[in-house]
Amino acid sequence: MQQTKILLEEKDMPTSWYNVMPDLPEPMAPPLDPETKKPIAPEKLSAIFPMSLIEQEMSGERWIDIPEPIQEIYRLYRPSPLVRARRLEQAIGSKARIYYKDESVSPAGSHKPNTAVAQAYYNKMEGVRRLATETGAGQWGTALSFACKMLDMKCTVYMVRCSYDQKPYRGIIIRAYGGEVFPSPSRHTSVGRKVLEQDPNSGGSLGLAISEAVEDAAQNNDTKYALGSVLNHVIHHQTITGLEVKKQLEIAGETPDVLIGCVGGGSNFGGLVLPYMPEKLEGQKIRFMAVEPQACPTLTKGRFAYDYGDMARQTPLIKMYTLGHGYFPPPIHSGGLRYHGEAPIVSHAAKLGLLEARAYFQNEVFDAARLFMQTEGFLPAPETAHAIKAAIDAAKEADPGQVVVFLYSGHGLLDLGSYDAYLKGELKDQAFSDDEIEKSLSECPEI
Ligand SMILES: *Cc1c(COP(=O)(O)O)cnc(C)c1O
Repeated sequence: MQQTKILLEEKDMPTSWYNVMPDLPEPMAPPLDPETKKPIAPEKLSAIFPMSLIEQEMSGERWIDIPEPIQEIYRLYRPSPLVRARRLEQAIGSKARIYYKDESVSPAGSHKPNTAVAQAYYNKMEGVRRLATETGAGQWGTALSFACKMLDMKCTVYMVRCSYDQKPYRGIIIRAYGGEVFPSPSRHTSVGRKVLEQDPNSGGSLGLAISEAVEDAAQNNDTKYALGSVLNHVIHHQTITGLEVKKQLEIAGETPDVLIGCVGGGSNFGGLVLPYMPEKLEGQKIRFMAVEPQACPTLTKGRFAYDYGDMARQTPLIKMYTLGHGYFPPPIHSGGLRYHGEAPIVSHAAKLGLLEARAYFQNEVFDAARLFMQTEGFLPAPETAHAIKAAIDAAKEADPGQVVVFLYSGHGLLDLGSYDAYLKGELKDQAFSDDEIEKSLSECPEI
């Protein structure tokens, strides 16, 4: 019998997350206070984040224990399967073996609960009773409202108005978990009211929704803010996937040649590949491949510079690959990949030449999604389809017998509007011109 799914037993689930920081050949540049342009003091972040997560953000410890209550919630869906995509291999005539790590099996349908559960837990331990956050397409809001319910906390989600109207289903799931969701701009914050006064019909933006959630957290003592990607502690939490893959490939008797993930803020990609950094730095030949949309080509066309994390310039300055905090990507169907920046850890690794990046257009990405669906059976999220496209290309380029592994970041069962547009031939292949990117980059602050 040919084995298809490589399953780990619950007792073999990793009990620590991995922090790549102490293993990096050069230290990372620190986040800066936007006022003084000096490294930011941890206390400054404590209005919106709990101290334990701020400590993880700055930690130099290689391993971070996963508290048992988090493991208990993880076990609702973890360990997740590693699946051999044999029918996909056959369809493309691949001589390489393709595996995918299936994170779509979580309650929210993506990898995001891996950090949502952890963040809710640490907040709860410090007496926080409610978490506020923003969500674009709704994946992160769904994950956080699930996590808050598991820990008996409240959850408030500011959802970008146009997504709230166009894609009502995620908002319904958030409410079914017991969370509250407001279209942003909302009347609940001063920044929301200000925008509504100027434009009652504003469709909102992710930057604005972040500003509303941060204001909510800063002004309420029992409330803190949670971010679903980009930050170091988020990437640490996501390493549970790569650590499981290591054990699963060992069981299968395989060593990976290429590890692939799509990148929005960089958390699912970082979680998969970073646990392999020690082997890579010791000289093992293993490629890390980050995949992004041509419409938001942060790693392939951005600049490594200090920039703001949000449009409203409220966040600390972080050194990362960026397209400029004012970059407004065209409305492609991969909402989760439209962030202007990239996680500092992933950016730093890219700067050191430790990973490679590729960018694809929407239609070729959906072609890959359809091929995957028609061979492996499952319908991937449009974000995930970027990784599938790259895995197909990498497998075709690979030597016979090589092993290609990608992270299947989520299912696409709530993204059917995008599939409809694709099937009707309505998707546009958009890329920003170099001039437009140059203009947006010119707004990065001088440091
Ligand atoms: C949010 C999301 C992404 C992108 O976020 P990262 O932080 O880059 O991982 C990718 N895929 C899915 C399904 C998502 O929900």
